[in-house]
Amino acid sequence: MVEFGTLNFGSLDTSSQKKELDLNNPSEHLKLVIVGSGPAGYTAGIYAARANLNPVLYTGMEMGGQLTTTTIVENYPGYPDGVEGPVMMEEFKRQAEKFGTDVRFGEVTRVDFGRRPFILVIDEEKVISADAVIIATGASAKYLGLESEQRLRGAGVSACATCDGFFYKDKVVAVVGGGDTACEEALYLAGLAKKVYMLVRKPYMRASKIMQRRVLDHPKIEVLFETETLDILGDKKVEGIKVVYRRGKPDEKVYEIPIDGFFLAIGHKPNSDVFKPWIETDENGFIKTKCKSTKTNVEGVFAAGDVQDPFYRQAVTAAASGAMAAKEAELYLQELEEKEREEKQLEQI
Ligand SMILES: Cc1cc2nc3c(=O)[nH]c(=O)nc-3n(C[C@H](O)[C@H](O)[C@H](O)COP(=O)(O)OP(=O)(O)OC[C@H]3O[C@@H](n4cnc5c(N)ncnc54)[C@H](O)[C@@H]3O)c2cc1C
Repeated sequence: MVEFGTLNFGSLDTSSQKKELDLNNPSEHLKLVIVGSGPAGYTAGIYAARANLNPVLYTGMEMGGQLTTTTIVENYPGYPDGVEGPVMMEEFKRQAEKFGTDVRFGEVTRVDFGRRPFILVIDEEKVISADAVIIATGASAKYLGLESEQRLRGAGVSACATCDGFFYKDKVVAVVGGGDTACEEALYLAGLAKKVYMLVRKPYMRASKIMQRRVLDHPKIEVLFETETLDILGDKKVEGIKVVYRRGKPDEKVYEIPIDGFFLAIGHKPNSDVFKPWIETDENGFIKTKCKSTKTNVEGVFAAGDVQDPFYRQAVTAAASGAMAAKEAELYLQELEEKEREEKQLEQI
């Protein structure tokens, strides 16, 4: 259970006397707050604003979300010639603002969903309250932590085979990981690439037996067990990888493999920590939503996009669930208003 009451500024405090945040006195009350500015958040904004819900959207540190870190997006409907990720997200924002979404730069650093209205703390500076909240904070792919991996992101290094696999038609690629997702990515890539190396750190895979079988039986996939990536080679684009076989063992071997694309499939970390005390997540931190909806375990709090989607993780699916969340929030707010009206009427009797 989280303890809420007053909150010290700690190191953010600039005055000599410590400021305190009074969570019982929010400086602003809002009908609907959307947390996150990726495809899910902005789409929720478009729908909620058009439904007259006066949504306020907090962008977080990565304004525009994950797509601002990529170059060309070719699989979002409506852009037959492809579109630069940052350009597409600017257009999402423009559309959300056009209908009245109040887009504000700021991060939700704490919440209290145990009281009504809900309490949200922005940048540890401002306390607001809201009748309904849509969480659209996305998920971040896990990387190995190599310098070359960051340098070559978007230049041959990718964490999404569905997004970038098409660029490796008839080329040679490597996939890192040994779980079901890694197997799915390897199989997807094998449908496009000439050859797929699958790099598995352990002497076995974590994936389900059926996925292992599919991968091991595929003529284009070569699984390299007990193999770790030491470096990604290439100056401007990926040209190969340096790997180590059986690191630290007497028969350790370091060698290079020429490849064109390097795909990470070692998991995603959903940005759900800030909500966790109140909102149910699965064992990997993805927010649990109720069957075919964006409803969470807390009535009035909805989750959309990658933060609740361990499987599809695409811009179009994130946007679709953002629209669902806005529709569901609209219905919830209508019911809330009706309830409040009835309560007032009863008080007057
Ligand atoms: C390199 C790359 C290329 C990709 N290419 C494609 C592609 O070609 N096609 C495709 O369909 N998909 C692609 N994807 C996947 C796609 O980007 C995601 O599926 C999509 O962005 C998910 O949208 P989202 O709105 O759920 O979250 P995100 O886009 O991750 O946005 C999350 C938002 O939440 C904000 N946020 C996080 N925490 C907080 C907080 N505490 N308070 C306030 N805000 C917060 C962040 O600042 C961000 O704005 C790609 C992903 C990557 C990384």
